[in-house]
Parts: sequence; structure tokens; C-alpha cells
Amino acid sequence: MTLLPAPELDRESVRRWVETHLAGLYSGKATGSPAFVGGQRAADKALASFDVAGYAGKRNEVWPEHRQGASRLSPYIRHNLLLLPEVWAAVEGGPSRDVSKFRDELLWQEYARHLYARLGEATREGLRVSLVGTTGQDGWPRSMSCVDLAVRQLEEDGWVVNQARMWLASHWAVREGIDWREGEDRFFRHLLDGSRAANTLGWQWTIGTGTGRSYGFSRHQVERRAPGLCRSCPHQQDCPIAEWPNDPSLERSEPDPRLKTDPDAALTAGPDGFETKGTPEAVWITAESLGDRDPALVAHPDLPAVFVFDAALLERLQLDGKRLVFLAETLADLGARRSLEVHLGRPEEILANRSVAATFTPVPGWRRKAVVVDPVTLHPWPWLRRPVSGSVASFSAWRKSLDR
Ligand SMILES: Cc1cc2nc3c(=O)[nH]c(=O)nc-3n(C[C@H](O)[C@H](O)[C@H](O)COP(=O)(O)OP(=O)(O)OC[C@H]3O[C@@H](n4cnc5c(N)ncnc54)[C@H](O)[C@@H]3O)c2cc1C
Repeated sequence: MTLLPAPELDRESVRRWVETHLAGLYSGKATGSPAFVGGQRAADKALASFDVAGYAGKRNEVWPEHRQGASRLSPYIRHNLLLLPEVWAAVEGGPSRDVSKFRDELLWQEYARHLYARLGEATREGLRVSLVGTTGQDGWPRSMSCVDLAVRQLEEDGWVVNQARMWLASHWAVREGIDWREGEDRFFRHLLDGSRAANTLGWQWTIGTGTGRSYGFSRHQVERRAPGLCRSCPHQQDCPIAEWPNDPSLERSEPDPRLKTDPDAALTAGPDGFETKGTPEAVWITAESLGDRDPALVAHPDLPAVFVFDAALLERLQLDGKRLVFLAETLADLGARRSLEVHLGRPEEILANRSVAATFTPVPGWRRKAVVVDPVTLHPWPWLRRPVSGSVASFSAWRKSLDR
């Protein structure tokens, strides 16, 4: 029996639900993030209360927290509770410098999705150059106040401001010389917005494997973006990052030819209209798209939504408990508005004999499962910009190729 009772809508019940039904499938404790609540209602509230004014000047501020100007919308964007086109539209009318900077960041998210949709798991290899590191070590010395602050946010809140993500990634791979994929996995286990698409891009872009130039992290950035933090640091007088790190030895690698051109852009992008070959009796949803505005959910408001916690995948990933609490909270919220089935097992087996509708999802895991599940009705992914066949070798090359 794979069917689970649907989680109830409050933090404590959700927490207990995760402990009871997903035991052994996560790491750490099933405590939710104190900084974020899952669910469509929380997502809509976060977007409604976000004011883009001042974003450009403050988005990189790290500490104290009241100086931060980032939107903190990423966990909701990650799971398509907020669709990129609607977030784009929501800031219309704000100060033009802030709107333009914010939309630029949304385009980075879209770029990450395009890159991952085209290259899939190959994004775990250095895109432009490779950087070999030692393995099996922890690259974040907690005795440094700056590192400790960022790791605490990662592990407790499941969210870290972009600037501090760059500090952690650079410290791990550039200064300490540890394999970047291990750091990327550590981020992925904890971040509520953790996606292979944006996380691998963020690491590759920071440490230089994506661009050929690495970002160096030193005390200078801490003094600028977290003024006063060094005063509480035991290393105040002997700061190990007083100087810039040496450039890492990036080794030239053979770039994947698909960076320059996509041999099948239509396959990468998925259908651009609704496709059907039967009558669905349920809507299959995954963690990639859990929002009320998921195209398949919108098209079939009277059908039950079916979500499967993929037991084998979770057992392997060992995500931190707060990620699963966020997902279960999101499902509980969805279940308050429409009929919902939550299962635990293999999605391919559970859905094999059911006629389902689904939204095409541009990630390799979904594509593999969809071959077996074989949805009878497929809805297009809500791209901000539909993928084309031109270069994705860099953000600027990608933007140019979209305009052609
Ligand atoms: C090493 C590293 C790892 C990262 N891992 C992830 C990840 O797993 N998931 C993730 O969504 N983002 C990741 N990012 C990108 C970025 O740090 C986060 O999207 C951002 O910090 C989220 O906070 P926010 O919503 O307040 O962002 P804001 O600054 O308010 O930006 C608004 C939205 O734009 C998008 N965005 C902003 N910056 C980026 C960026 N550099 N790349 C892609 N999208 C961006 C996000 O969807 C974000 O919610 C990573 C960056 C780095 C340097």
C-alpha cells in the first residue's frame, strides 16, 4: 500500500507527518525552516508583500539581516508556486533600475533552467574548464564568523543570500581546494530553493569552471557586505582570508558541443501547446511544479492531484528534514483546496496503469519517469522565454541567442 494520509495544515502536524511517513528518507531532524512556510498561500503572500524599490542597491547585503534587500522568493519560484512570468509581471511599475536588476536575476534563473534542460546531468562537469579538488573534507571552518553565519543560515533556515553563497562556494573550492560537487551536494541537501539547475550553475559560475575566471573571497567582501561582523570573529587579528586566494589551477576541458547549439531545441523545450491522446482521471504533480497555477492543475480543476514521494530517490539524496517539511506543507496547503493523493514508492509503478495529465517538465528525472508514466495529456512548461537552439555557453551569449 503506497497511499499515505494527506498531511494536515499546520507546522507541528506536518512535522510529525514527515517523521512518521518518511522516516529514514531524510537527514537531520524533521523541523521546518523558521524562515519559510511552504504552500501557495505563503508564496502569494510573499510576492504580494515584496517591494522591489531599493533592490538593486541592497540585494548583495548579507548582515545584519535588516540590511538585506533580496526578495526571498526563491523557495516558491523553485517549486513553481510562483511562476517566473508572474513574478516578472509583479514588479511592473517599480523604479526602473530596481525592476531591471530584479528581472535580470529572474533571467539568470531561466538561463539555469535552459542550460539544465539542454545538458542535464552533464552540468556536473566543468562547463568551460575543470577544477579537480580533494574529496571527503569539510571546506567551511566554523571558527570564522563569516563562514559560520552563512553555514548556520544554510543549515537552519535553508536559505542564504546570493553573496554569502558565493563566499561559501569560493571558500570551499577556490581557497580550500575541495571538490566543488561535494559542496554543491551539501547546498542541495539544505536549500529550500535547491535545484540542480541553479545550484550547479551558481557553483560553476563562482569557482570559475563555467567562465574561466574564479571569484575570490576575502575579508574585503565581509567588511563591505556585513559591516561589523569581523568584530565578533576570533580570527579578527589573524584573519585567514585577509588576502585574496591564489587562482585555482583550472584545467582546459573539451566543452560539450551542445553548449553552442542544441541539436533538438523543440525536444528541450517540450510542447508549446496542449497535447492529448486520451482522457485523464488524475493530474500527476512533482516537486518541480506544485503551485495552483501549474498548467495541468489549472486545466483539470476537478481531477485529483497525485504526488509521489519517490522513496528510492529520497533515500539516496538524504535531503535535510526541513526540505521535506516544506514540501509536505505545500501539499497540505494544496490539499485544502482540491482533492489530493499522496503516495510513497516508485512513481513509475504507482502511476503505470493510470491515465494522467501532467505539465511537461524540463529536467532529466521527470523525462525518464514520463517515458513510463506516459501521460495522456501534456501541458507546456510555463517558460519565461522559450528555449531556442543558440548558444548557452554564457549568460550573455544566451541572452543574445534569445533575441535573434
Ligand atoms: C553557489 C550558488 C548556489 C546557488 N544555488 C541556487 C539554487 O539551488 N537554487 C536557486 O534558485 N538559486 C541558487 N542560487 C542563485 C541565488 O543565490 C538564489 O536564487 C537567490 O539567492 C535566492 O534568493 P532571493 O529569492 O532573495 O533572490 P533575489 O535576488 O530576490 O532574486 C529573485 C529571483 O531571481 C532568481 N535568481 C536570483 N539570482 C540568481 C542566480 N544567480 N542564479 C539563478 N537564479 C537567480 C531566483 O529565482 C530568485 O528567487 C545559487 C547561487 C550561488 C552563488
